[in-house]
Amino acid sequence: MSAVTRFAPSPTGRLHVGNIRTALMNWLIARQAGGTFILRLDDTDAERSTDEFADGIRDDMAWLGLTWDSEARQSERMARYEAARAQLAEMGRLYACYETPEELETQRRLLRARGLPPVYDRSALALSDDDKARLEADGRQPYWRFLLEDKPIVFEDLIRGPVSFEPGHVSDPVLMRENGVPTYTLASAVDDIEMGVTHVVRGEDHVANTAVQIDLIAALGGAPVRFAHHPLLTEASGEGLSKRKGGASIAELRDEGLEPLAVLSFLGRLGTSDPIEPLHTVQALIDGFAFSKISRNPPRYDPDELRALNAKWLHGASLADVTQHLDVLGLGEIDEPFWLAVRSNLETAADAGTWWSICHRPTQPVIAGDDKDFIATAAGLLPDEPWDQETWKAWTAAVKEVSGRKGKALFMPLRLALTGLDHGPELKVLLPMIGRERALARLEGAKA
Ligand code: GLU
Repeated sequence: MSAVTRFAPSPTGRLHVGNIRTALMNWLIARQAGGTFILRLDDTDAERSTDEFADGIRDDMAWLGLTWDSEARQSERMARYEAARAQLAEMGRLYACYETPEELETQRRLLRARGLPPVYDRSALALSDDDKARLEADGRQPYWRFLLEDKPIVFEDLIRGPVSFEPGHVSDPVLMRENGVPTYTLASAVDDIEMGVTHVVRGEDHVANTAVQIDLIAALGGAPVRFAHHPLLTEASGEGLSKRKGGASIAELRDEGLEPLAVLSFLGRLGTSDPIEPLHTVQALIDGFAFSKISRNPPRYDPDELRALNAKWLHGASLADVTQHLDVLGLGEIDEPFWLAVRSNLETAADAGTWWSICHRPTQPVIAGDDKDFIATAAGLLPDEPWDQETWKAWTAAVKEVSGRKGKALFMPLRLALTGLDHGPELKVLLPMIGRERALARLEGAKA
């Protein structure tokens, strides 16, 4: 099966985890099939779309490794939408309407009050040429609606199963506004046809759009597209994503120092029947993707769960998995033994820098007044080099013997003096990296 998919964000804001979940599904389908993935900027809204947001979208996608094979901008394709409009007009599937937004709103309100679906009543279809001429003489500009076929629209959603819309339950969609700008409904259908899109995966807020686009694509002579609508992410409270807890925009997650593959592991498995686990290659996601695994219940997004997965991802990461990120952080000198020693203490890769600096850069020891004599005793017992991972055990055994201290009272003051912190990787691993010269100076209270 060859697949052509697309991710079609509007460059009117930064991407958030919900957008990326959509992008990822489309990307996985294309990559699984050896197909094509298109980044399409839905930028017909000239007032709200900006180049800055378009760049932000590209940066976020690139950071996550969601590579695209081609890029399109709807603002450059206006002539194509105009051609489609003319084709539909020629076929008698487009009609001019003149209602103001206020008139339409009143119509909807009246329908709702009578318990009827707020569907456009097609009254503009009854306008004669004279009526239209009069309205236009009054200064009204037409906008254009697509005449839906009077039969049910039925499709097999790859996630939701069979979906059907009865005629009369969906309004004839507006395809062109008064100012001649095409709507999303038209532009998206034209693009999907002309770009050979085979599968469209998007949020379930688009189901009704799909119904009209299926009719529209057929009218324009396009090949049928397979559609899938996934439930939207919610917060713990069951509501839509909010900014309260932070960590919903991709830019924020990057700034927090999370790993792209941890983010993809999380978003790729959230709301599926596969377990959420740290994946160190994206191939596992590509191989495992299947529509049948996607749950129909709205998945709950909790940034703290993502942070926890990021930590777990690091704890199992090889140095090669993080080299690129460490380079960006200026931590390219970190070597394999060091990485293996510290990785299980990390929440973000940047934390490795803290431990690197404790081993290799001047660090202020912490020595409590009560511990001064004890630390002086310990300093006097430091063995000669060469040091290895046995050194810590031999040294602390001697310190225990002489001082009579044990447990926390023995180990914590040593840790504080050697690292300046009360937690961290095992000292048997850190001690040889700190080395005798620095260790001795720190035990003597010097910043070393
Ligand atoms: N620009 C639309 C959106 O972001 C695209 C929807 C679609 O995938 O067709 O909601």
